[in-house]
Amino acid sequence: MLADNYRQVLNNIQDACQAVGRDPKEVTLVAVSKTKPVEMLQQVYDAGARVFGENKVQEIMDKYDHLPGDIRWQMIGHLQRNKVKYIVDKVDMIHSVDSYRLAQTIETEAAKKNVTVSVLLEVNVAEEESKFGLKMDEVLPLVQQISELPHVQVKGLMTIAPFVSNPEDNREIFRKLKKLSVDIEAKNINNTTMSVLSMGMTGDYMVAVQEGATMVRVGTGIFGERDYSADK
Ligand SMILES: *Cc1c(COP(=O)(O)O)cnc(C)c1O
Repeated sequence: MLADNYRQVLNNIQDACQAVGRDPKEVTLVAVSKTKPVEMLQQVYDAGARVFGENKVQEIMDKYDHLPGDIRWQMIGHLQRNKVKYIVDKVDMIHSVDSYRLAQTIETEAAKKNVTVSVLLEVNVAEEESKFGLKMDEVLPLVQQISELPHVQVKGLMTIAPFVSNPEDNREIFRKLKKLSVDIEAKNINNTTMSVLSMGMTGDYMVAVQEGATMVRVGTGIFGERDYSADK
């Protein structure tokens, strides 16, 4: 059943690509597995998924050793600096860098482990008070600062769009992020690319793909609703 969900989402991505003349190979589906048990992740892995997204350091650590080594883990949640050391050599990319202090900590911990860490800058395009992320005009200066850090490589931008019932309501948000990435790319900053655009979730990933997403982060659409009741 989870395999069917996974394949359905892949099909939808393909349809969205077709609608705008994009190659589906440009889009990576991140299976967002937060709160879900390893058995469920294994099912989706068996259906072909290799890219999983988690939003808590502890959960990545708990799952990491119980699942195949070729999974490319994506840290998509707010990251506390004191926890960076646990994941720098485990994750494929950190999607949620939103301060120079955090980037510096990643630099320090990555240097210790002799790895280079790919990161995205999280942008709060809609400037929602409840959300983390940079304002649009803070992004370029931070990209320039981080480009000086040898063990941190900026690969692009990420946003969490507002929760809306009509995905069309987020189209403008996705367009703005795409435009920002094109503008920054044009500056040819050292040690920096804008090749990744991580945007779109269960409710709006097809619109995000039409607007240029290269990574969509889908949880509910693959794994079903999340149950947080055990946390309370
Ligand atoms: C939970 C989460 C998602 C997935 O949300 P769904 O609506 O379940 O697809 C995507 N991105 C981030 C940053 C998340 O925390």
